[in-house]
Amino acid sequence: MTCPICAWSPDNPVYILLHETDTWRVVLAPNQRLVGRCILHLKRHCGDLADLTADEVLDWLAVVKTMENALRTAFDATLFNVSCYMNHAYRENPPNPHIHWWLVPRYNHEVELQGWGFEDPEFGNPYRHDCQLEVPQSLHEEIGARIRLAIETARARQGT
Ligand SMILES: [Zn+2]
Repeated sequence: MTCPICAWSPDNPVYILLHETDTWRVVLAPNQRLVGRCILHLKRHCGDLADLTADEVLDWLAVVKTMENALRTAFDATLFNVSCYMNHAYRENPPNPHIHWWLVPRYNHEVELQGWGFEDPEFGNPYRHDCQLEVPQSLHEEIGARIRLAIETARARQGT
């Protein structure tokens, strides 16, 4: 059974690589209804949070810090909804889950990019999973580039 997360490759034009550590990688999500929405992939195939190692948990925290900072810098994100579901994997029999976290920035203001206005009409409530927006490739790439630039800028400031 193939696992789409294990099959990910760096030339993927949609799930653009934003950041990685020894144990996690962060990619841009196809749905940019909430601009900057991204996904944290565990780099090894493992389907249960209880099976994470202590190192992976600590590294996860560092990744969340890096990404929250970057999304604040890039788009002035107000807060973040962080969640791990893996529900879709259980539509298959047998299921083949691979740990991934959704990091979804939330906004109390509009963000404008390339003439597009990104709003968060459900701000203050859970976001709606059925609100989808796939932006043109050039805009998708610009969103990724802005996030990567914010990460690099923070790294340069810290001298790491
Ligand atoms: Zn996998």
